[in-house]
Amino acid sequence: MGIQLGMPQAGPAETASGLVDSYGRRATDMRLSLTDKCNLRCTYCMPAEGLDWLQKDQVLTRGEIVRLVRIGVDLLGIRELRLTGGEPLVRADLVEIIADIRANHAELPISLTTNGLGLDKKAQKLKDAGLTRINVSMDSLHPDTFAQLTRRPFLDRVLRGIEAAAQVGLGLVKINAVLMRGINDHEAPALLEWAVSRGFELRFIEQMPLDADHGWTREGMITAAEMRGMLESDFVLTPDPRTRDGAPAERWEVRRKSLPDVVVGVVGIIASVTEPFCADCRRTRVTAEGKIMSCLFSREETDLRDLLRSTADDDAVARRWQEAMWAKPKAHGMDHVGLGDADFVQPDRTMSAIGG
Ligand code: SAM
Ligand code: SF4
Repeated sequence: MGIQLGMPQAGPAETASGLVDSYGRRATDMRLSLTDKCNLRCTYCMPAEGLDWLQKDQVLTRGEIVRLVRIGVDLLGIRELRLTGGEPLVRADLVEIIADIRANHAELPISLTTNGLGLDKKAQKLKDAGLTRINVSMDSLHPDTFAQLTRRPFLDRVLRGIEAAAQVGLGLVKINAVLMRGINDHEAPALLEWAVSRGFELRFIEQMPLDADHGWTREGMITAAEMRGMLESDFVLTPDPRTRDGAPAERWEVRRKSLPDVVVGVVGIIASVTEPFCADCRRTRVTAEGKIMSCLFSREETDLRDLLRSTADDDAVARRWQEAMWAKPKAHGMDHVGLGDADFVQPDRTMSAIGG
């Protein structure tokens, strides 16, 4: 169980250091979006026609990104970096960005969340640049279902990318899958079998109301409890004894029913909607255009790009970042959506425009 959040404290003034919020949580995990563009159109994320992409000069430059990470790590206690998007592999200077960050921070864990397109060609370069680990999103093992979900027929390319990542040793490869009712939910056990037999860690993610078409419904989403039920047709799941330590995924050790004494892998279930972990959240998000979002669902955004492009020093940027995080809401309220609670308002941004 997460920590209990008490009453908010007054004012960030006495906050000693770091990205602390008014409920006492400390953000140490930075999610940085490198672009809002993407070459897939996953139905739960993007509209078929794409979005109005940011102009090039609206997106943080390589130098601005590297500086922001340095401020985060050196001044604000960031201990972990996740690069995401949109699709981060479409960014031409991705390898250089990682190499620059690595040059400044020898020990920082740097991971990348990607759809895997083009990863086969870039995996070795990413590893050499200093990337620690990779998450690849793949929701189906069937080409037609994959094409239905992503609106692009590219499953074979994604599979090639995953294989390349494993071959070059990009850490423990994690696979992200969103289950959609009546489309790919029947594949849950097969996806897990595929992942454990290759030594990958599969993470099922509950679908969140962050799609462009506002098509999310509580009845439509597959809950974490349902996911566990589906997997139990073929597997025995027992809680992973390792501490969760602020991780969004609840991890389960996996045994095949046919061989119940042998742990064959681990599966993660990210139950953002039905079993929210807001009380233990350690994330701070930066959008591709340099806005701080203290929560995936916050409607407040704090711009850092104008400061980065002014004569402001690092301390001024750090202070504005701290102020943004101080106002982090207690919880996203998503667990009440569709239950008659009108408080929750879906953000204007899609997942791709925030950085998942
Ligand atoms: N394009 C990359 C990818 O797909 O991995 C990185 C960005 S994507 C927004 C990051 C993750 O968010 C993916 O694993 C994707 O499945 C997940 N995602 C996108 N929209 C979602 C939604 N509405 N609910 C839950 N997860 C979502
Ligand atoms: Fe693109 Fe990732 Fe969104 Fe799919 S989930 S549309 S790959 S950003």
